[in-house]
Amino acid sequence: ENKKQKFVYDFTEGNKDLKDLLGGKGANLAEMTNLGLPVPPGFTITTEACKVYLDSGTEPAELREEVSAHLDALEQKMGKKLGQADDPLLVSVRSGAKFSMPGMMDTVLNIGLSDASVKGLAKQAGDERFAWDSYRRLIQMFGKTVLGVDGELFEDALDAAKEAKKVTVDTDLGPAELQKLVKEFKKIVKREAGRDFPQDAREQMDLAITAVFDSWNGDRAKLYRRQERIPGDLGTAVNVCSMVFGNLGPDSGTGVAFTRDPASGHQGVYGDYLQNAQGEDVVAGIRNTVPLADLENIDKKSYDQLMQIMETLETHYKDLCDIEFTIERGQLWMLQTRVGKRTAAAAFRIATQLVDQGLIDEAEALQRVNGAQLAQLMFPRFDEDTKVEKIARGIAASPGAAVGKAVFDSYTAIKWSRSGEKVILIRRETNPDDLDGMIAAEGILTSRGGKTSHAAVVARGMGKTCVCGAEELEVDTKRRRMTAPGGVVIEEGDVVSIDGSSGKVYVGEVPVVPSPVVEYFEGRMHAGAEEAGELVAAVHRIMSFADGKRRLRVRANADNAEDALRARRFGAQGIGLCRTEHMFLGERREMVEKLILADTDDEREEALKELLPLQKKDFIELFEAMDGLPVTVRLLDPPLHEFLPDITELSVRVALAESRKDANENDLRLLQAVHKLHEQNPMLGLRGVRLGLVIPGLFAMQVRAIAEAAAERKEAKGDPRAEIMIPLVGTVQELEIVKDEADAVIAEVEAATGTNLKLTIGTMIELPRAALTAGQIAEAAQFFSFGTNDLTQTVWGFSRDDVEASFFTAYLEKGIFGVSPFETIDKDGVGSLVKHAVKQGRATRPDLKLGVCGEHGGDPESVHFFHEVGLDYVSCSPFRIPVARLEAGRAAV
Ligand code: ADP
Ligand code: MG
Ligand code: MG
Repeated sequence: ENKKQKFVYDFTEGNKDLKDLLGGKGANLAEMTNLGLPVPPGFTITTEACKVYLDSGTEPAELREEVSAHLDALEQKMGKKLGQADDPLLVSVRSGAKFSMPGMMDTVLNIGLSDASVKGLAKQAGDERFAWDSYRRLIQMFGKTVLGVDGELFEDALDAAKEAKKVTVDTDLGPAELQKLVKEFKKIVKREAGRDFPQDAREQMDLAITAVFDSWNGDRAKLYRRQERIPGDLGTAVNVCSMVFGNLGPDSGTGVAFTRDPASGHQGVYGDYLQNAQGEDVVAGIRNTVPLADLENIDKKSYDQLMQIMETLETHYKDLCDIEFTIERGQLWMLQTRVGKRTAAAAFRIATQLVDQGLIDEAEALQRVNGAQLAQLMFPRFDEDTKVEKIARGIAASPGAAVGKAVFDSYTAIKWSRSGEKVILIRRETNPDDLDGMIAAEGILTSRGGKTSHAAVVARGMGKTCVCGAEELEVDTKRRRMTAPGGVVIEEGDVVSIDGSSGKVYVGEVPVVPSPVVEYFEGRMHAGAEEAGELVAAVHRIMSFADGKRRLRVRANADNAEDALRARRFGAQGIGLCRTEHMFLGERREMVEKLILADTDDEREEALKELLPLQKKDFIELFEAMDGLPVTVRLLDPPLHEFLPDITELSVRVALAESRKDANENDLRLLQAVHKLHEQNPMLGLRGVRLGLVIPGLFAMQVRAIAEAAAERKEAKGDPRAEIMIPLVGTVQELEIVKDEADAVIAEVEAATGTNLKLTIGTMIELPRAALTAGQIAEAAQFFSFGTNDLTQTVWGFSRDDVEASFFTAYLEKGIFGVSPFETIDKDGVGSLVKHAVKQGRATRPDLKLGVCGEHGGDPESVHFFHEVGLDYVSCSPFRIPVARLEAGRAAV
């Protein structure tokens, strides 16, 4: 039998788990109804009905009948009919998708009022003013949201009416003025929408329902969904809810409340209340609200009942809830609830508070926080106590706190920063030409563009503080100044402070304070200490929950002892990537030059001999810092030209010298070498294992330095655990040659020192061919470390150094991906190669150790993926370690 699809649910029929079908608002209204809380009766039209409408352009045939049946039932329950002239039932039509979305249609209240029923309502309520106030609100909301009339026209007319009567608040308008205003509003509708305001109640309701459906595909809603990666085909539900009135006089009112403080997490009475008001009045700021605690004096009975209900909701949802309520002549009504948004700090506190209250367990507590929130808490922030006036607020695009002198072009940013100034680069919007200026600046501020604008994407990629889209600011790059609201002018060179976590912009210098959470991780603050406060205590506990649950180990990418020690304090369980190229810079560059220029074996050997003790010393320090924990050392990876002078600069130097006839022999040789090593595509050229294969002795020298360092640490009673990693391998043959050479060197050092060094040799998997032939490669490798940066470059054919600033903005805006594949692993493409390599590698060598050392190792979503595919560890920059630990714990529960 073909069961007929049900498109309408009474509030008594749904529950909180039906958010897909009933939307968030509808599901929670149903949940509250079934909890026995006072919710005005009503019904919800499903997202399925919306989908049919959006697909076919017409509402499903059965919908109208189903709505009629539910409306009949509602009318029966309420004992009056929608829009009935002598005693009208009124309803609100409220949108409500699964996720709350800006750009969706606003709610229309008081549907059912007309020229006839407004009089009935007045008589029933015994209040003329109330009835006409409700009617003017209906025409205003309906005109604006259903008929598309510019809302300001109504606002202006309302202001004019208040001015005419010389009053400032809407409640001072009497019935006569409101009646006149209704006439005026109807005229506006007729003029602007080309039709009369509908007098038929059912027509009002049907038009409003269709308008909610249509708003799903409004431009703003669509853009928001693409940015937030909300699927475009979910559709929205529509709630039809019988009206209760907060505008029936001083014993009525409306308010919002939180079951606990969304900023601190503390339990208590948090919210706002407004007497004699309806709907959005509380948040719209048209009159001054009073703190919710004052309701106790205004209406003790309702207040007590509300407190009771808030407790019920908290215990039921086991979380912070936010609430909308209305009091109609002393009777409390619940109009909405949902699990409330909160700050990152409150999320950690609330999660642990709920554990202490016995409402949730440790695993659930881990689901209530996330790595992004933890990362937010780790940025330095502005001192909240300082009295610096905020001048604007934009979009918090990339967190952090930055202070510097205002500059309005990249050239100045670079020039000033070279002379030691800190600058904030201010632009209307940025483009790829601004890149160098962005690098030079402390932070970036734009007046246009959203979270996927060029400025936002690039700044996040660089980890640089950015506030974008601060539209109140007028940026005049030609005159090198910007104007803030109130006429404040900021000239080039004036100091500004920007907060990339809140989007706030200040004139002047706001003092920056380090994050207490970082002080704690650094070991400079004890979790129990008084000054550490509740936040640090909560973070400490959540981290211990995560460490207790996680299977993934977390290592650090670190190249020197200092970073290694810091990483250890942050909880690193080893080093997953030590880049040896960083040991070849500075004054050692000259020795590398010598190596590259060597014509004979002797010259080469001499150069290597000079490098050996330096490398060895680096490793001794590193192994000491990471004593007892694994240290993966990657042999030299980057193309050699990176160690040589720039080709253009050198050519000019040599040409000039030649014209003076005093060209220096070494420069000439260098230039030759630079020409020889010049590559069109260096990232795909002579680098990684290829270097080891064509430069005799290079890798052997590095292996010797590692082995001798390990031997020395053993001698000193240390516990070195070095792992030697060969980069950019594409085929097992490459690895075998390098491994044979390394094994020989290690055997030599072991024989000479009489120790067993237990060094392991493995490879990076960072080329598609390596992933595809991982089964073969595992025969020569004791471990794999996925180099997901290069793997992403080579799988997509994207040059990481170029594409992020050039076309990624366009890709993000077109929704081709919601986040850069260099930031979060592309599970379908790159990820499937990782999966394949894990499987093949382990088939060959069951005890193969598996890790990842790309940027993705510290990215929350990617960490979950690496947990799922069964890696042993992730490795990331020291600062990301707590985030990786937390997410590894979250992935495991
Ligand atoms: P939003 O999603 O913007 O919060 P809502 O549908 O919750 O929109 O409604 C907007 C305002 O109107 C809220 O303050 C809400 O409490 C109020 N409201 C909605 N329906 C009713 C109703 N049936 N009776 C009284 N007030 C209502
Ligand atoms: Mg609401
Ligand atoms: Mg690489």
